[in-house]
Amino acid sequence: MQTEVQKIGERSLARAKELLLRGECVAFPTETVYGLGADARSDEAVERIYRVKGRPQDNPLIVHIHPGFDLGSLVYDEPYAQKLREAFLPGPLTLVYRSRGRVSAKVSCGLDTLAVRVPAHPEAQRFLRYVDIPVAAPSANRSKHVSPVSAQHVLDDLNGKIPLILDGGPCLGGIESTVCDITGPYPVILRAGLVTREMIAGVVGRCDEYIPQEGEKVRSPGMKYKHYAPSCETKLFAPADAAAALAEYRRAVQGGRRVRVLCEDAVAGMFPAEAVLDLGADGAAMAENLYRLLREAETCADLLIAIEPAGRGGVMTGVLNRLRKACAGE
Ligand code: AMP
Ligand code: MG
Repeated sequence: MQTEVQKIGERSLARAKELLLRGECVAFPTETVYGLGADARSDEAVERIYRVKGRPQDNPLIVHIHPGFDLGSLVYDEPYAQKLREAFLPGPLTLVYRSRGRVSAKVSCGLDTLAVRVPAHPEAQRFLRYVDIPVAAPSANRSKHVSPVSAQHVLDDLNGKIPLILDGGPCLGGIESTVCDITGPYPVILRAGLVTREMIAGVVGRCDEYIPQEGEKVRSPGMKYKHYAPSCETKLFAPADAAAALAEYRRAVQGGRRVRVLCEDAVAGMFPAEAVLDLGADGAAMAENLYRLLREAETCADLLIAIEPAGRGGVMTGVLNRLRKACAGE
């Protein structure tokens, strides 16, 4: 199969719609990462997503809709959800509702809930409005690889496997949406992201972060898998261990290895400039840069030394979660 990359316009949108209604997959940009979309109402189309990505069959998908789409036709609403939608949507927040069972059961892998997201990205909205169906979409990468934040990243992973990539330029959010379960008395974050626990608690009073208990059925199956990993070897150091990272860097270079160092601005000066992949100085910049730099690392290094940024809380919760999964196999 030939994979076409097209800027978003009348012609490419018409083609995308035709493909989706035929049960094919189409990649599209959002403000977080690129999504691999398919018709959420069709078993066959949803199965294709899992096949194309090599995604485990028990890792449910998020349904994407435009702001005007009838949410109530897909899910049962929850008392405080309206406040969250008013505060954060459209945007990088996915809400997990009780499902009405109107989309393919394969979207939720048999769970009685449905994760729904309304992206803020203007071109994502244009695409979703044009097709006007619920679009199931995980990140448009090979399963367990680094998520794609450009059309080229999607092409690198899925060339020949999907017919069309809609190119909307680089994604500025950089990490996947916050996934928040609202089926209980207060919201519980299943996956940290750009809409933070602190921001949600600020609107509804309480918001917890989900910590799986031993023996309990996992509430967000996706979180148990190794994820976001570059193809090169990785070594992760704590913020206090930058000196040990430097020693490791010197040893590896002496040993003839091609090494890159992924770290925040504050410690970048310890390393030769040409070896540094600089995450930036604040949470938003680090989220935007993380996946692009992980993908860059695998093209030019056989060892990536990563040093955790020192910041905690807010957006850093999501950034650290991704960095640890990518580099420590957590
Ligand atoms: P991805 O689409 O690759 O960004 O992953 C989607 C994330 O949302 C995974 O971590 C899933 O486990 C989670 N997710 C999707 N649907 C549900 C659901 N119904 N309940 C809980 N988590 C979900
Ligand atoms: Mg993903």
